[in-house]
Parts: sequence; C-alpha cells; structure tokens
Amino acid sequence: MAVIYERLAIIGCGLIGGSVGLAARKRGLVAQIVGCARSEATRESALACEAVDYATADPVEAATGADLIYIAAPVGTIPVVLEQIAPVVELGCTVTDAGSVKASICREGNRFMPASFIGGHPMAGSEKTGVHAAHPDLFVGRSYILTPQDADEELLARLMEFVKALGAVPHVTSPEEHDQMVAQTSHLPHLWASALALSLAVAPPDTVSAVSGWDELVPFVGSGLRDTTRIAASDPVLWRDIFLSNRDNVLRACEAAGQALEQLRRAVETGDADGLTALLGNAKAFREYLTTTAGGVDMTSPGLKLAIDGPAGAGKSTVARDVAKALGYIFIDTGAMYRAVAYFAMQQDLAPGRDDEAIGELAGTLAYEFRNVGDERHLFVDDQDMEAVVRLPEVGRLSSPVSAIPLVRHNLVVAQRQMAAGGGIVMEGRDIGTVVLPDAEVKVFLTATPQERARRRYRQLRDMGMEVSFEDILNEQNVRDQRDSSRAVAPLKKAADASEICSDGMSREEVVETIVKLVQERQGA
Ligand code: C5P
Repeated sequence: MAVIYERLAIIGCGLIGGSVGLAARKRGLVAQIVGCARSEATRESALACEAVDYATADPVEAATGADLIYIAAPVGTIPVVLEQIAPVVELGCTVTDAGSVKASICREGNRFMPASFIGGHPMAGSEKTGVHAAHPDLFVGRSYILTPQDADEELLARLMEFVKALGAVPHVTSPEEHDQMVAQTSHLPHLWASALALSLAVAPPDTVSAVSGWDELVPFVGSGLRDTTRIAASDPVLWRDIFLSNRDNVLRACEAAGQALEQLRRAVETGDADGLTALLGNAKAFREYLTTTAGGVDMTSPGLKLAIDGPAGAGKSTVARDVAKALGYIFIDTGAMYRAVAYFAMQQDLAPGRDDEAIGELAGTLAYEFRNVGDERHLFVDDQDMEAVVRLPEVGRLSSPVSAIPLVRHNLVVAQRQMAAGGGIVMEGRDIGTVVLPDAEVKVFLTATPQERARRRYRQLRDMGMEVSFEDILNEQNVRDQRDSSRAVAPLKKAADASEICSDGMSREEVVETIVKLVQERQGA
C-alpha cells in the first residue's frame, strides 16, 4: 500500500499504540514511526518489537515534525498531552486519539487545535494491556469510530483512508452520540463485570485470608463466571478515568441495568414463572442477535468464509469451534448434519445400499438449524436438539455410508451454502473447500497421522466411560478414511488452494492460533 503519512508519532505505546505502529509498518502506510512512552522499559519493548523506529519520553519531541499524531494514552492524560503538544502542531498535521470517551476529549482538542483534531475510538480493546500484547492485525474487521468536529475535510479523508488501510471499518458520529452508545455497549459491561466480581469477593482483597476465602469457591466455578467476569481483569486506573469522564451516560446505563436486575429479582421472589421465562427469553434473543452475522461482532465487516476439511479425528470440530469463537464467527459442523440424516434413516428403518433414494429425499425434507445452547452450538432438526443423538457411536458409523449417497450430499450442500451465504462463518467437514464453498477465502486441510487420530478418539471415548479397544477404533477409522476418500461423489481431498496443517505434536491452542493467523492475514491483505 502507498505511504499515507510521512511521520507518525505515537504517544502512549501500549496495546493500541503499539498495534497502530505494527499495523502501519506491516502495510507500509507510514515512512517513519516515532514512539513516546514515559517508562524506559516500554520504550525498549516498543523498539524491540519494531512498533516504532525511534523512542522518546518527551511528547513534544515526538510530535515535532509529525503529520499524524496518534495519542493512545489513558483517557485521563489525553487532555494534558493535547495541551503540551499544541505549540508544535503544524498546519496540515492530523492529531487523533484512541480514548474510549469522546465528548470531554474533543472539547479539549477543539480548544487547542480545531483544524487538526479528529477524535477517534477503535473498538478493538482487550483486557490485555501493554505493547507485548500489540498485534498488527488488531484492527482488522473492527469498527473504528471517528468524531470530527471542525477539522479540515481533507485531513478527515486522509485519516479515514489510514483507518481503512489498518483493516478497520470507519464510522463517523458526534462525540456526544459516541459517549451515549459506548456507555451502554462498553462501559456498563465493565461496570457490571466488576459488580459481579465484587458481589462474590466478600472477603477484603487486601488480606491473605481473603484469598483463602476465595479458594473455597474454586470447585464450584464454571465457565459462566469466568466468561462474565473476564473484563473485570482490566486496568482499574484506566477504567476509573473512563467512568468518571462519561459520568452522566454511565449513570443512565446503570439505572437501566438496575431496573433489569430488579425485574429479574422480583420475578424470582414472587415465583412468577411466566414473567421469568419472558425476561430470560428476551435476554436470550438479544444475546443470539449479538452472535449472529446480522448483529455479530463482525456486523461491520463482511466476514470471511473459512473452510476446514480433513479426516475424522484430526481435531477439526474442537479447533473449528475455538477458531470461530476467537474470530466472533459462526461455527457450522456439517458432519452433524450427515449424522442427523443417518439417525432419522435409522429411526425409519432405512438402510444405505437398499433405500438410497428414500434417504436422499429424507435429507431434503429436514429443516436444519444451528443454535446456541449455553456456550455450545447444537444442530436442531425440525426444532429438536440433535446434539446427544448425533454423537451415538452407531449413528457415527451409519453416517459414513449415508454421506456417500449422492442425493443426500446434494440436499445437504444446498442447505450448507445457504447457511454460509452471509460470511463470517467457519464451516467444518470433508468437502467444504472443494465442493460446498469453493469460493471460501481461507481453506485449511487439517490432518494427523492415523495412529495419533485413533489415540485421541480412544482417549475421548474412555473419558466418556466407554469400554473400547484401540485396535477396533483404528480399524474402524481406516475403513471410514478409505470410504470417505474413495467415494464417487465429493471424496475427502485437499483443495488445491488449502493450507495443510498436520496437528501431530501441536497443542490445540497452537493449531487454533495458526488458523486465526491465516484468517487475519487474509483479512489484512
Ligand atoms: O465429522 P463427522 O465425523 O461428524 O462426520 C460424520 C460423517 O459425515 C463422516 O463419516 C463423513 O463421512 C461424513 N461427512 C461428509 N462430508 C462432510 C462432513 C461429514 O461426508 N462435509
């Protein structure tokens, strides 16, 4: 990409500042990057990871001669920095910030440099902090709010170009509207997560006994508590300043949250089962809206199609699920659909080889839908949750000959293409990259040696309390592999443009990370 700015000054080299430097360098958007950080250790880290070319502790020195000044300091210090650098901001220089609160910061920006200042807020934060967590693709597919007021239009157009080149999706709004919105979508969730953590942290945190008190909770802690308190791990000083700078909007959001909690509490207190179902149902509908492509994290970006194929037992499902989670994408396990057809065929006494046409037609009459059930995604067929039955070993065995029936494949491929139409999906199976979604932007062929795959399946079934022999599993797997790769229609094979990953000796996390990187590289391309 072409150079957009000659000299980028990044003031505050933490997660966001560091990522801006890495992203701009990776995409060739700037000729030179100067970083400013108070701590020597941060300056050294920023230089070491090549987020900046030169580092100083003095914001004025960093800003002098820059044509883009990017202030990624904590909200509380941004006004101070603006005042400090104002005398060296030249005509034609753009000054922007990444603060999560805009009205108070934009007032200061407008006071000191009305033609140059454009408020900004990349919606790409994390509970992680520091330049060590910085990533060149942090902004890819993320919404990026800009709140220009009196700035020069040409400068705004250039900054929009820069934001897009980072891989982000710019939205322009007023500082006031921004603050109202983020009070609900970002500030309240932080406050709520902290409130939840506080309600359980009954013992004072400054004593040793407090920790031992918390220890007693541990055996009872499930993923729900970890998920809902994740953002309570954020930096207290940073969030203190955000809450205080957006005080009125945060108070309004708190009031609405308090009312919702009270409604739920009252329904429980009075045993109002219908009322409780309705409230929980509304909450569920909202959550599902957030996690679908229509309302999902990637609503603002088109979202890619990611195809993951490979033989049974290569770890596709686990990995595909984790990858979808990491990217905010929808996960579609096509194997479950073949298994569901096998299950209904079994129910109706239909046998592959004898009743192929009837099984093919059956596959075309079922209504398939993947829905969130708690943290998991289950296949529903005609409103029935199929998760338990499709995992039965006899259903698994039958799914392989059922999946070789051409009409079954035809009907399921039609349904799968419809599911993938909106993008933002991770689809896993045998023929996704070759037949179902030959246009998928990222294709992965995930394998492992037969021994390793059988070992994993053996451990999995033993953990589920099943009496199985390793030899039987290996033999059955060989038969299935042979049938899947030699069948006439859509045999299992690597697409010419797929990246092959052999997961032998790799941890689940390593495989997930490798695939997420492939997607991010493609998004950033
Ligand atoms: O992946 P899973 O083991 O759940 O798949 C069940 C069966 O469905 C496999 O034996 C495979 O033959 C078949 N299948 C297929 N094409 C897909 C997904 C699964 O043929 N896209």
